[in-house]
Amino acid sequence: MLIIVFICLIIAIIAITLLLITSRKFSKVIKNIIRFSEEIRKGNLDAKISTDHNKGEIKKLSDALNDMALMLNRSFKQITHERGELKAALSSMSEGVMLLSSNGKVILINNAIREMFQIKEDLTHERYWEIIRNTELNELIEDVLSTNTECKKEIAFLYPTEKHYLASVIPLDSPEKELVVVIFDITGFKSLEKIKADFIANVSHELRTPLTAIKGYTETLQEEAYESQDERKHFLNTINRHTDRLINIVSDLLVLSEIESKESSSKESLVSDFEKVDIREIISSSYDSLKGNTTEKNLKVALNLNEVIPITMGNRFLLEQMFINLVDNAVKYTPEGGTIGANASNQDSSIKIEIFDTGMGIPRENLQRIFERFYRVDKTRSRQMGGTGLGLSIVKHIANIHGAQIDVESEVGKGTKFIINFPLYTS
Ligand code: ADP
Repeated sequence: MLIIVFICLIIAIIAITLLLITSRKFSKVIKNIIRFSEEIRKGNLDAKISTDHNKGEIKKLSDALNDMALMLNRSFKQITHERGELKAALSSMSEGVMLLSSNGKVILINNAIREMFQIKEDLTHERYWEIIRNTELNELIEDVLSTNTECKKEIAFLYPTEKHYLASVIPLDSPEKELVVVIFDITGFKSLEKIKADFIANVSHELRTPLTAIKGYTETLQEEAYESQDERKHFLNTINRHTDRLINIVSDLLVLSEIESKESSSKESLVSDFEKVDIREIISSSYDSLKGNTTEKNLKVALNLNEVIPITMGNRFLLEQMFINLVDNAVKYTPEGGTIGANASNQDSSIKIEIFDTGMGIPRENLQRIFERFYRVDKTRSRQMGGTGLGLSIVKHIANIHGAQIDVESEVGKGTKFIINFPLYTS
């Protein structure tokens, strides 16, 4: 009996010892798992459970948890990488992009929007109307939020500078129903549209005047009452003058459009069209071709072209057009007996040309605008002289094509000087 009790006691002691050992080991594993989960919670996705002494089911559990952490780590790194790429793409975009939640909170805005609306602070999680104070844009976003339909609208900002934007608001097909607002800056495009519209209006106006005159005088000639030879001659002369004007405008417009299309090509292709040119020779031949006009007005021609200037590269035809226009203006706007002329000199790395006259001069307030198409200081005088208002615009474009800088100095009643600095091109 005593032996049986003793054996039972031994078994009980062994069982308790085994239980104690197992529960200690188990509690160590549990502690490891708790430490591991805390590391993961803190964001340390590199955390691992040591599996060295684990066996059986506990080892399986530890391995599964380590695999999960590894997967989490990989997905996290991929998401961070993709986010970085998206951020870089968004911030390099010239279009403004803003992501809004369905209740109008800003989730994300890119640099372009910050620049467009001069946003300095981090305004994510603010409402969109706190960032963009423009009623039209805010109404557009509100519309899309309530209708869930994509909308586009042109929006103008007049302050601090005039700006035009095309805003496009797109509802996303996602469970959170966010909105993407994309804003394109179309100010340049709008101003081109305006330049084009102004140009067409100007051309139409310029053509209309001589055409109306021609039509009027032709109708008068058709009337029988005007039979006198002198009257007929006078009308025919007037028709002829207006026809010349039309021809001048159309040919100047053709030259201008040809030059502008040249100007839009690359610098390399422009320069590849250049040939060797002697600028002094081109200038003196321009004065020669207008000799008739200078003699008629009894103008003194002073050409100071003795300084030897290098042969450079340029488009000979265009340079001739340039100097003929400048010399023609000097002749037109200098009264009888005045002086017109040119100076040529060598600068460090450029050739300086001056085309001057002792004519009527240009008022200071008009100097800024004389290179604009159809701009004239005195419209009537320019028309009487057969001017089209396009000459200096052509000159400016030709200077641009040659990389030359053109300036003007003038004093009313004393005269005008156009100064052109040509860079030196070597073949
Ligand atoms: P236009 O055909 O009228 O001469 P341009 O484009 O050549 O047109 O010149 C624009 C305007 O600049 C002229 O209408 C004239 O008022 C002024 N201008 C140009 N050159 C001279 C000059 N040498 N002296 C005075 N005014 C000038």
